[in-house]
Amino acid sequence: EVLRSADITMYRAKAAGGNRYEHADPEADVLAITRHGLTNSLPTALERGEFFIEYQPLVRLSDGTVHGAEALVRWCHPLRGVLGPDQFIPLAENTGLIVPLGRWVLGEAVRQARAWQFADGEGPLRVNVNLSPFQLRYPDLVRDTAEVLKEAGLEPTALCLEVTESALIGADETLLRPLRQLADLGVDIALDDFGTGYSNLSNLRRMPLSALKLDRSFTRGMQQDPADPVDLKIVEGVVALAHTLDLAVTVEGVETGAQAEHLRVLGCDTAQGWYYARPGPPDRLHALSLVDAS
Ligand code: C2E
Ligand code: CA
Ligand code: CA
Ligand code: CA
Repeated sequence: EVLRSADITMYRAKAAGGNRYEHADPEADVLAITRHGLTNSLPTALERGEFFIEYQPLVRLSDGTVHGAEALVRWCHPLRGVLGPDQFIPLAENTGLIVPLGRWVLGEAVRQARAWQFADGEGPLRVNVNLSPFQLRYPDLVRDTAEVLKEAGLEPTALCLEVTESALIGADETLLRPLRQLADLGVDIALDDFGTGYSNLSNLRRMPLSALKLDRSFTRGMQQDPADPVDLKIVEGVVALAHTLDLAVTVEGVETGAQAEHLRVLGCDTAQGWYYARPGPPDRLHALSLVDAS
């Protein structure tokens, strides 16, 4: 997508704090902006309310009801349109903005979960929030989280924080301590993207985990007909291991009914993916859960 030169001028003027900016090569300008423009606009994006959250349901495989939803952040950039997290989370991590951004996501998601509970009355919906390893190193994380939950009036057990497997590789006490403190609060911790890193399986025991989220690469072979028998065996083994360690198993990236059925038979607990619903606005999730519960 190409930026109009008027946009570029305006953008540069803003980025330079109102100073005129002269440049001889407009094409180089476009490149420079796509590369560096996000860095300049990211710090103020939070104040300007440019972030929003989509929710994707997690579905219980046993009966198809909605268990909860994962909060996925998006950035509605004034010039570039909606950007996915892969386009700005690394930048937020490098600039330190991940801490206030992560706190904002957590607050929004927790208030949303509370709102769902009020609207629903029945099975309380839970909310999953992604946690960057940079947030884990932030000393006030545990206190902030406890505060956010208290302010919203959400019980800690309705929150699950997802930490990627790669973030915890070689995890030392500095990372494990806040995780344990969060778990002590009653918050669930899920190991995200499980199977993409190289975590020593016996290490899982040291971590205060409640769930494993299997990466979608596990289910690729289940789209074939017949399903790849080795893939089925691998998932069967992972589920057995997880359940031995008292961990629930969620599978992400489920795109077909065939995959869902295999996962159910293999004993996975919950699933998430386009087969059920794409990420969307919070009210749509509530509608889904009412339909499923009836
Ligand atoms: P993730 O935590 O592994 O989230 C799952 C990603 O898979 C999401 O991408 C989701 O939209 C996508 N997805 C869901 N169902 C399907 C499916 O059936 N097929 C396929 N192909 N994809 C599916 P998204 O929203 O682009 O998020 C990308 C990553 O950004 C997330 O991966 C997560 O690591 C990170 N992220 C998102 N929100 C936050 C946040 O608030 N904080 C932090 N630190 N990271 C976040
Ligand atoms: Ca996740
Ligand atoms: Ca994941
Ligand atoms: Ca993933």
